[in-house]
Amino acid sequence: MLCSTVLKKYNFMEKGHISVQTENIFPIIKKFLYSDHEIFLREIVANATDATTKLKTLSIKGDVEGDIGDLTIDIILDKEAKTLTIRDRGLGMTEAEVKKYLNQVAFSSAESFLKKYKDDATIIGHFGLGFYSSFMVANQVEVVTKSFKKTAKAVRWICDGNPEYEIENTKKEFRGTDVILHINEESVEFLEKSKIEGLLKKYCKFLPFPIRFGTKTDTTWEGDGEDRKKIDTEVDNIINDVAPLWKNSPTNIDDEEYKKFYKELYPFAADPLFWIHLNIDYPFNLTGILYFPKLNKGLEVQKNKIQLYSNQVYVTDDVKDIVPEFLTLLHGIIDSPDIPLNVSRSYLQSDASVKKITSYITRKVADKLNSLFKEDRKTFEEKWDEISVFVKYGMISEEKFYEKAEKFALFKNIDKEYFTFEEYQEKIKPVQTDKNNKLVYLYTNNKDEHFSYINSAKDAGYDVLEFDTIIDNHFIQQLEYKLQDASFVRVDSDTVDNLVQTDEKKESVLSDADQEKVKNIFTKVIDDKSAHIELKALSPNDYPVVLTKPEFMRRMKEMQQLQGMGLDNFPDSYNVVINTNHPLVAEKLVRMKSEEKREQFADYLQNLARLNQNMLKGEALSKFIQQSIEYAKV
Ligand code: ADP
Repeated sequence: MLCSTVLKKYNFMEKGHISVQTENIFPIIKKFLYSDHEIFLREIVANATDATTKLKTLSIKGDVEGDIGDLTIDIILDKEAKTLTIRDRGLGMTEAEVKKYLNQVAFSSAESFLKKYKDDATIIGHFGLGFYSSFMVANQVEVVTKSFKKTAKAVRWICDGNPEYEIENTKKEFRGTDVILHINEESVEFLEKSKIEGLLKKYCKFLPFPIRFGTKTDTTWEGDGEDRKKIDTEVDNIINDVAPLWKNSPTNIDDEEYKKFYKELYPFAADPLFWIHLNIDYPFNLTGILYFPKLNKGLEVQKNKIQLYSNQVYVTDDVKDIVPEFLTLLHGIIDSPDIPLNVSRSYLQSDASVKKITSYITRKVADKLNSLFKEDRKTFEEKWDEISVFVKYGMISEEKFYEKAEKFALFKNIDKEYFTFEEYQEKIKPVQTDKNNKLVYLYTNNKDEHFSYINSAKDAGYDVLEFDTIIDNHFIQQLEYKLQDASFVRVDSDTVDNLVQTDEKKESVLSDADQEKVKNIFTKVIDDKSAHIELKALSPNDYPVVLTKPEFMRRMKEMQQLQGMGLDNFPDSYNVVINTNHPLVAEKLVRMKSEEKREQFADYLQNLARLNQNMLKGEALSKFIQQSIEYAKV
């Protein structure tokens, strides 16, 4: 318990000493992290709001005499006097209350906050420093206050940023509290109108009572043509929206209002895809609106677009410990007084109520997607490309989300048809089950590059999925793990006969001796000794030579790339498959008499295959074109 020691008392002025238990907190407050200084304004305005709310509550209960009048909170900047005043018309304080609340309650809460803070620089929100945060920017703080209580006298309390304070009776006409900050030399930026306005807009934009910051000019036009006249009117500069949309009941809000609110929050963003209105009061209190922004295929969307509020007071836009990582792709607002805001990040992660909040939000998001899917599948499919990154991200990172999402997540094939997992399994089962009874999901991540491979697969009666977002590699892995007996194979990872492995074997039209001959020629012309050369009896309609990139090796390489590891130590791994049933091999090549011509032709055929895999570049490409011209002449 802190006690104030009265040092001196004369007339109605009293000097006191805020008793300091462990050490002097003032120097610590002043040295508070520089970037955090600005939060003083939020703390003081939040106090003014609290005092106003309390008055309103008392008035409703009939404890305040007469009309409570205008409750606007004023922020008054006086650059000359170097003061910033926060004036409320709340419940005010009596002399005894000033002593109790400012000297004891406020002081001890600031003290305990700083004790916590000193050990941990990752405290979120910085809520709890309260009234004394004003000493970060002021060398003197004056409080002039008059309680709503009938007989109360106005008092003035002054403190110079050390444990000494003065208190005296004063005159004040109206009920409420003025907190007058005498801004210190290092903090003159807080005497700038634009700075204060910016901070008010950041922290106080949705406070429940009007916050007035001077006046502003409102321009309207009257008349037409030459008679058109500009009319400037000075009006109150009200900073905030006292009844933000998320506090309203969803049943009273139409789509346009949701979109309008989104535009207010993110003026440059395209319309959101849809939104979720959060509203819960048990077992914790949480309101808000989460919007699904238009995402593109990459993940270069800006994170940190969710703003966290506590009772309509802005806290932070860094919510990564409150919502699951994948949800940070969403935009919007979460407002909850139940999120502990003056604790460290590591504490937050283990906090039971935060865990509940996190799983509540995850569930709500999944439910919303599910109901969109169920109620209007067509629209859901139309939006799928834009939300798929988000859903996949969630399915990879949150088990609970996966469980819900596996019912509405979609596969999209290259013909732009959409299937649920279950529907797709049924579709491909008849033709894409391999000899081990595994379902083989064929996919491409680049329709153009894999054009010929896709065509071969389709000709063989297979379906090809499109996986072209940056997290698809991870997603595929997750699916192979989750869906039993599933394997995902990129269309260019094997020759078409082998994409879905069966026991079937085709006969080659070539004799064993000719096959040996063909293999030798290709072995000779293919420089790259790491390439695996293989003869196969494919269809005469397939390409003469096909280059494939085995699934496993390619994925390993991609994983390495994603993890930013060196690429050199992991070369491209590919197979060169010679189609011994293609006439250019089985007839033309085998029958060529000159060894030189044979080798030239074999080289040409394998280059064709490289070209098809986009592997022919620079000199090799130029040589290939030259060769093509030569062949065209014949
Ligand atoms: P907190 O607001 O978290 O309780 P503060 O240090 O900000 O802590 O303030 C301590 C107390 O001082 C408040 O609980 C309140 O009783 C009183 N107080 C502060 N500002 C005002 C104000 N503008 N009007 C009335 N009382 C106030």
